[in-house]
Amino acid sequence: MKISIIGSGYVGLTTGACFADIGHEVICIDNDSSKIKSLLAGNIPIYEPGLEELVQKNVKKGTLHFTESIEEGVEKSLVIFIAVPTPPLEDGSVDMTYIEKVARQIAAVLKDYRVIVDKSTVPVKTGEKVYQTIKRYNSHNSEFDVVSNPEFLREGVAIHDLLHPDRVVIGATSERAIKIMKEVYAPFKAPILITDLNSAELIKHASNSFLALKISYINALSRICEAAGANVQMVAEGMGLDHRIGKHFLKAGIGWGGSCFPKDVAAFIKISQELGYDFKLLKEVSQINSDQKEIFLRKIRDVLWVLKDKRIGLLGLAFKNNTDDVRSSVAMDLARVFLKEGAIVQAFDPKAMGKAKEVLPSIHYCSSALDVAEEADCVVIATEWEEFINLDWKSMKSKMISPIVFDGRNLLDKKRMIEMGYHYVGVGN
Ligand code: NAD
Repeated sequence: MKISIIGSGYVGLTTGACFADIGHEVICIDNDSSKIKSLLAGNIPIYEPGLEELVQKNVKKGTLHFTESIEEGVEKSLVIFIAVPTPPLEDGSVDMTYIEKVARQIAAVLKDYRVIVDKSTVPVKTGEKVYQTIKRYNSHNSEFDVVSNPEFLREGVAIHDLLHPDRVVIGATSERAIKIMKEVYAPFKAPILITDLNSAELIKHASNSFLALKISYINALSRICEAAGANVQMVAEGMGLDHRIGKHFLKAGIGWGGSCFPKDVAAFIKISQELGYDFKLLKEVSQINSDQKEIFLRKIRDVLWVLKDKRIGLLGLAFKNNTDDVRSSVAMDLARVFLKEGAIVQAFDPKAMGKAKEVLPSIHYCSSALDVAEEADCVVIATEWEEFINLDWKSMKSKMISPIVFDGRNLLDKKRMIEMGYHYVGVGN
């Protein structure tokens, strides 16, 4: 199958590499010429485990190509995926300018039948708009179908998620497009759910909001555990063993961040409102999340009293482990607060320091995790990188002015840390 993907970011590039790997002929397109130049030179602009090898392998095999030209992609491919950004606007609604622009760009060069597939996360009814826009701007009056195929990958394990999806959702009404989409996904051996366009678009926002809700639920419980002298990790374990609940997304911490949950929850609240439903439950989910960060900051201020001139060792900058993505990262939010209050922030992240530096140059970036402890008044764990668990916490302690750890991800064993002589502050334990 000949496939083009417009937008070669976290979703587009990984999807392109996986499609190429299972045997499709793929063209990845991006309008950021530096990105395409770097990809053509063999450099991968993002960190995603296994992606570099997968891209190199398929470029060598001749099944993965890069270009800036949408015209080339549309001409050479039967299926055109859209994977451009859908960032939030100030009021929480989705900025649709990227999608609308791509629809016009496709329309301008569309000559023969193509399946246009939206993979970006979009408000319900976007497919209808994309269809109308292409129809309006296509001077050739070509035949085409619009399909919704939301993406559920998790950064950090994106290749696994793409190659072994729990489900593939295809929102389409045209039998011709459905047949082609089934061929695209045939090698994956995943359950395929065919729906109408609107339902497919809703499935994505509904799923992400539900996952965010699950995390906010356990975070709310962490407050009750603290007040009652219980342990939220044990409570979560006990809940998660019930298969109707499941153990995933029940880790208490400093709240969800990243490029998806905050914007998707805000968008879903807005979309529901426009459809006449006040989704109060989701508003509360979002409120619990912002409170969670504030409560953590309060714990830090309670112990350190004044943050000005304090040296804070920050472990983690990415919004989660195994990625270099710092978009809407809670770790970055914490760093911003520390800096604003006059603290010195010395941070380390295994993969995200390059991207963090572009946003927050005033952090002192350390060359190892151990270095953040140097003369530090405390260490704050903000991202759940596994290597932070196995740090030499004895050496860390010897470098610190005062051995205080604020563990925002409940990564460390509280009992062990206390035995080592740390003042340990976790979440809900
Ligand atoms: P990204 O910013 O990493 O990548 C988007 C790419 O699109 C960028 O490289 C940008 O240069 C390019 N682009 C923008 N306009 C273009 C145009 N007109 N022509 C060609 N290229 C263009 O974003 P992402 O994280 O890959 O997210 C893309 C979409 O997928 C969003 O809607 C997001 O919500 C959704 N999504 C993301 C994830 C995730 O974990 N990142 C998971 C599921 C769904």
